[in-house]
Amino acid sequence: MSTIESPRVSVLLSADAIAARVAALGAQLSEDYRGRDVVLVCILKGSLVFFADLLRAVTIPTRCDYLAVESYEGTSSSGEVRFTADLRGAIEGRDVLLVEDIVDTGLTMAYLLEALSARKPSSIEVVTLLDKPSRRRTPVSLRYVGFEIPDAFVVGYGLDYEQYFRNLPFVGVLEEVPSLG
Ligand code: 5GP
Repeated sequence: MSTIESPRVSVLLSADAIAARVAALGAQLSEDYRGRDVVLVCILKGSLVFFADLLRAVTIPTRCDYLAVESYEGTSSSGEVRFTADLRGAIEGRDVLLVEDIVDTGLTMAYLLEALSARKPSSIEVVTLLDKPSRRRTPVSLRYVGFEIPDAFVVGYGLDYEQYFRNLPFVGVLEEVPSLG
């Protein structure tokens, strides 16, 4: 039986593989955004671990901000996106880079891109650790992608199931829904 204490999780991306890819993304961003007024936006809560690592792999001056959205219940998208915390700073005239954990149906990112574009940033782009292109329901342009993954529910490295497993150092596939009781 799969439980919170001993879940049935198989490793999809090891901590080492993630670290190498995050270092490469940080180097690429630093090159692409050199000399620009960039704000890295952490999309809470899922991207908090990726954000912390990516931020330290960026070598140019950068500002940080945070927002929170909710769209998932359990292991499936509710299809409805809710802003639960907004940015603290203005983004007009700035180069915004949204840092996301995973793009699945694309509904969350499409909503965010539309909502934030209305605030007139100089540019707005997305960096996502994971991309599940087979599940897309709306097209979204993802400038930087860490890994394309198959259609499976993944946890770890910031991604949760019912708020658990964000602390796993790797990304794994939840093979069986764990009992919470
Ligand atoms: P979308 O709106 O693209 O369907 O979903 C985006 C959000 O759903 C992500 O930010 C993430 O919070 C959640 N999500 C999508 N797929 C997964 C998954 O495989 N595992 C986990 N833990 N969350 C997911």
